[in-house]
Amino acid sequence: MRTNVVGVDMGGTKILSAVIDAKGNILGTAKVPTKADEAPSVVIDRIADAIQKAIGKSGVNEASIEAIGIGAPGPLDPATGVVIFAPNLGWRDIRLKDELETRVGIPTFVDNDVNVGTLGEHVFGAGQGVQNVVGIFVGTGIGGGIILQGELFHGASKTAGEIGHIIVKAGGPKCGCGTRGCLEALASRTAMAKQFQKAIKKKKQKSIVTELTNGDLRTIRSGVLAKAIRANDKLTLKIFKKVTKYLGVGIGSIVNFLNPEMIILGGGVVEALDDTFLDNIRAAAKKYALPNTLDGVQIVRAELGDNSGILGAAALARQRSEAR
Ligand SMILES: [Zn+2]
Repeated sequence: MRTNVVGVDMGGTKILSAVIDAKGNILGTAKVPTKADEAPSVVIDRIADAIQKAIGKSGVNEASIEAIGIGAPGPLDPATGVVIFAPNLGWRDIRLKDELETRVGIPTFVDNDVNVGTLGEHVFGAGQGVQNVVGIFVGTGIGGGIILQGELFHGASKTAGEIGHIIVKAGGPKCGCGTRGCLEALASRTAMAKQFQKAIKKKKQKSIVTELTNGDLRTIRSGVLAKAIRANDKLTLKIFKKVTKYLGVGIGSIVNFLNPEMIILGGGVVEALDDTFLDNIRAAAKKYALPNTLDGVQIVRAELGDNSGILGAAALARQRSEAR
């Protein structure tokens, strides 16, 4: 019987794959480097290889695999499985679904990585049993996914959920997308690195982050932020206060507009935060949401960590193959 699925989490540096049974148990995993500088067809060969390895390690028969789900960087078309544009891979119009199906011979379903992470939390993590969920993942950038009535919502041009680009400070700092004042330009890890650079290099402020990064403030890892918070570093606390405020402003707007039952916060930056900062986010959201609109809304942490991608991809494979 075809009872198992394979979930694939495709990132800019590594590809994770896992065989997952009907209850969400992970039976076998594999990890291979993406090596995105190589040709797309070679990268897709490696994805196929990661899938075969995970099946081998799980000990299940390949005939028991019902479908493959894959979360990939987007924008992409979930209906055709074509990755339209993925800057961190250098991909344009890559037929990921077709190419994988040709190589592996198992029905394959593709969706945006953040959508897949949100679906994972909805099916196996913090959002189990909750029908209307917004997932917000804060890392190098800020991504979002929307589940409405238990299903991923894609929108007219399949780009719904771009929460990182809602404006929280008109005329604010420039964003990678070209406009100013996006949430991502104020509250992502990249935005925080810029705030640290400005405070330390231009304003000569002292911070433990200088030592923790050996003075290289271009990229600051979430682990460094967590250490600086635990050390009560004044500058880090100040920057986090601002970041949580802007996350709260964004969440307030989302709650006003959509009134979901739950908002799930995940990603490296959120994992670095302790509960005080989550309280700050809730307080800021309350300030910017209309009276009573937040009453029934839970704002919670993601529960699956690094597994949200593979588990979400497994859920995607199951939902889409059952819907056929
Ligand atoms: Zn933007």
